[in-house]
Amino acid sequence: MNSLNSNCIFCKIIKKEIPAKIVYEDDELIAFHDIHPKADIHYLIVPKQHIESMFKLSDDTVFLAGNLLVKANKIAVSNKIDGYQIKINNGEKGGQEIFHLHLHLLANR
Ligand code: 5GP
Ligand code: ZN
Repeated sequence: MNSLNSNCIFCKIIKKEIPAKIVYEDDELIAFHDIHPKADIHYLIVPKQHIESMFKLSDDTVFLAGNLLVKANKIAVSNKIDGYQIKINNGEKGGQEIFHLHLHLLANR
């Protein structure tokens, strides 16, 4: 876990230093409920590697980026979500508040 950042709230959730309602976890990523949901279902899907944002993606993180989407869909299907939106905020001007890359998965029942 040396790719984690001790000042980052999502790294703290990954290390289980602060609680979250986890819906899925594997070696690569973790998914949990957003603390302030903006839809009936609002999950955050977060790579276990501390990458600030999409701006930091590179050829080295192609698997990580693709895996986030593939797993987001698996999480949706396994929770019987039949329609959803994926949102990624990038940079302060892009509405990003937590500077650890994450996907928002939003759905209404
Ligand atoms: P951003 O604007 O960076 O894309 O979204 C950050 C999201 O993280 C927001 O929707 C916010 O509600 C959520 N959030 C912030 N702090 C926490 C926390 O401690 N726990 C959880 N579960 N979600 C958080
Ligand atoms: Zn982090």
